[in-house]
Amino acid sequence: MGRLQKIFIPFLGLVLAFWFYSARDTFKPEMLKGKRVIVTGASTGIGEEMAYHLARMGSHILITARTETKLQKVVERCRELGAASAQYISGTMEDMAFAEHVVKEAQTSLGGLDMLILNHVGTSYFGYFDGDVGHIRKLLEINFLSYVAMTVSALPMLKESEGSIVVVSSMAGKVGFPFTVPYSATKFALDGFFSSLRQEFHIQNINVSITLCILGFIDTDRALQAAADVLLVPPAPRSECALEILKGGALRRRELYYRYGSTRLPLLLRDCAADLLDRLVRSRYRLDRIGTG
Ligand code: NDP
Repeated sequence: MGRLQKIFIPFLGLVLAFWFYSARDTFKPEMLKGKRVIVTGASTGIGEEMAYHLARMGSHILITARTETKLQKVVERCRELGAASAQYISGTMEDMAFAEHVVKEAQTSLGGLDMLILNHVGTSYFGYFDGDVGHIRKLLEINFLSYVAMTVSALPMLKESEGSIVVVSSMAGKVGFPFTVPYSATKFALDGFFSSLRQEFHIQNINVSITLCILGFIDTDRALQAAADVLLVPPAPRSECALEILKGGALRRRELYYRYGSTRLPLLLRDCAADLLDRLVRSRYRLDRIGTG
């Protein structure tokens, strides 16, 4: 009997764990069919790929970035791929009035909003911190404050639809990364704001999910140009990354890690072996290729 218990109870635990996690994992593209979605930073990279996935799933898509010619092409492609509707607004997220205007446009043209995907990122440098406080201020406006401004504007619509906020962040927003100090600071700020807001949503029974996406190195043009020569890790594909972000948002996950092995697993060391994790992070760089600034 004792022996049976020793085998049976762990086995039952494994079966229950498998059932729990697989039940949570059932994403279906229909979940996003007909949904009204804003994707920021969708003229290139991961945002562009998210727009194409959403189009194939039949969503209503409103995309934004600065470069109008690129946005026009993405919208055309989204229509070809089967989007329920696709439109763009161009402008800069340095301007909070523009950030709010994008959300208002969703109200006017889509009649509401089901998912707000905050993905855009301002240009920064890759190298030792240069002491430029003005650059950090500007980057905080683009990468953090505009996310806050859009969330505030979108909240009435998201409450009504019991919708979702998806925040695209980075490993550099969970653990200190060298050579991207200003960028890292803005990504840490996102975690502080959105994780605290999620707590308040729970307390106030506000049924709006917040998914924080922790990404590793992804093969977008910008990231490859900045870091491919310097990083010793291979980049993950942007299209797969985009799909995983959408799945995480649709399943109302608290956090999404992509790829899991290079993000979630190392982060397990953060609380018990922080120095080791720091060393692991540093070991990913070819330090001889970093300029001294
Ligand atoms: P890209 O540089 O490819 O795309 C960035 C997007 O943001 C573009 O559409 C760009 O368009 C837009 N953008 C830039 N500046 C502004 C601005 N001032 N106002 C409005 N829009 C702006 O980035 P990725 O696809 O690589 O990254 C997407 C997200 O994923 C980011 O949040 C990034 O931090 C995160 N991430 C990416 C990683 C990677 O390795 N690629 C790793 C970890 C996280 P335009 O220039 O036309 O305005």
